[in-house]
Amino acid sequence: MQFPDIALETPAGREAIRIIDRLRHAGFIAVLAGGCVRDALLGRTPKDFDVATDATPDSVQQVFGRRQTVAFGASFGVIGVLPPKRDTRSGDNHDTGGAPTEVATFRADGNYSDGRRPDHVTYGTAEADAARRDFTINGLFYDPAAKEILDYVDGITDLKSMHLRTIGNAHRRFDEDKLRMLRAVRFVTTLGLSVEASTMSAIVAHADSISLVSGERIGAEMRRVITHPNAVRGLRLLVETGLHSHVWPQLEKIAWPELRTRFKRLTNPSFETGMATTLLTLHRCSKDALQNLKGLTKRWKLSTAEQRAITAAIRLTPQIIDCRDAAWSSLQPILIDRDIDVVLPVAGALAEDDSGVRRAIMERQRDPSSLDPHPLLTGDDLIAEGMTPGPHFRDWLTQIRRMQLDDELHTQDEAMSWVRRQT
Ligand code: ATP
Ligand code: MG
Repeated sequence: MQFPDIALETPAGREAIRIIDRLRHAGFIAVLAGGCVRDALLGRTPKDFDVATDATPDSVQQVFGRRQTVAFGASFGVIGVLPPKRDTRSGDNHDTGGAPTEVATFRADGNYSDGRRPDHVTYGTAEADAARRDFTINGLFYDPAAKEILDYVDGITDLKSMHLRTIGNAHRRFDEDKLRMLRAVRFVTTLGLSVEASTMSAIVAHADSISLVSGERIGAEMRRVITHPNAVRGLRLLVETGLHSHVWPQLEKIAWPELRTRFKRLTNPSFETGMATTLLTLHRCSKDALQNLKGLTKRWKLSTAEQRAITAAIRLTPQIIDCRDAAWSSLQPILIDRDIDVVLPVAGALAEDDSGVRRAIMERQRDPSSLDPHPLLTGDDLIAEGMTPGPHFRDWLTQIRRMQLDDELHTQDEAMSWVRRQT
């Protein structure tokens, strides 16, 4: 397999190469490592480029200068190297948006006693560093100077056959770090892999211990599963492995064909549209869907905005689907909801008859003065007419708004005459 050097032609890629060159000139070994090598070989654009080196964190800081580095994971041997200040004259483009590149010292992990992190790390060789990584496809290095892939773990074979396989004994590797089981689900989903048999049976055997991983970390992995067009494959694998019983137990009884059809209609799910679609497929009534969401919000630590948008989609989707013949005054408040851009795709995914959704999408394109016209009357207008404020004000104003939207009242004068008739 040939490494596609074109994958390095991005600001972050060029910056990683600059760092590797500097380290090499200082006499160290330095290579690209892990996810970026995997993604490039798969013809995907790497999210970020990680560098691995035999230089200790101290040496890395010496090579680049303390002010150009941040010691984020110093105890794990990871130093962040900041991009150089942009030099407009030379035309160099290392503009990573100021983000540091992670430079990790080759290491061999010690024992894992908490099911999540090694107790201590010792620095080691490139080979040892490959061996402590999770999956063979993630254990590859690329030496850009020699243009050579370093494969100590038979990762290329698995990459070619699109297999996810742990490095070393699967039972031991999942026992060390339980999060790897969910990473497996995520890689299968996002890369379209199949799980090699002994890796699969080890996940099944260890699934219960996923409870040792924090809800927040679980949420972070689930977010990446849900937002992928292939999300249903991931959710299905969650149930097949038994991981769901801690992560999302309700999934067990979901109607898979229905969920698949609906995700297909979503095409590119966001976290909010994906969650709402899944919850509405899981639960026939929105009260149960909201209850399920409440539990997940707490465990996965969803943001207020995420929770609000998913809630809006669960509540409003049935009304959008059924809005074909609805009065404008009942559809309009939904169309000006701040989360309408989440609601509409979910309604589109769920609708068997999409005439309501099509109407909603069309009406939503009205220009602002027609979509949400100024009210004909306000409480202040009534007071200015000498009326005494009270609960009846709100009642009147609501009725006037309804009649305005439904084209029964057109001017302030008409509205005021209507009010006078009420007194
Ligand atoms: P992406 O960046 O697309 O999420 P990635 O594979 O780069 O995927 P990272 O979390 O950035 O994932 O980790 C970088 C590399 O570190 C991985 O490719 C893998 O080699 C190693 N790694 C990460 N997490 C673990 C883990 N829990 N156990 C063992 N190795 C890991
Ligand atoms: Mg990465």
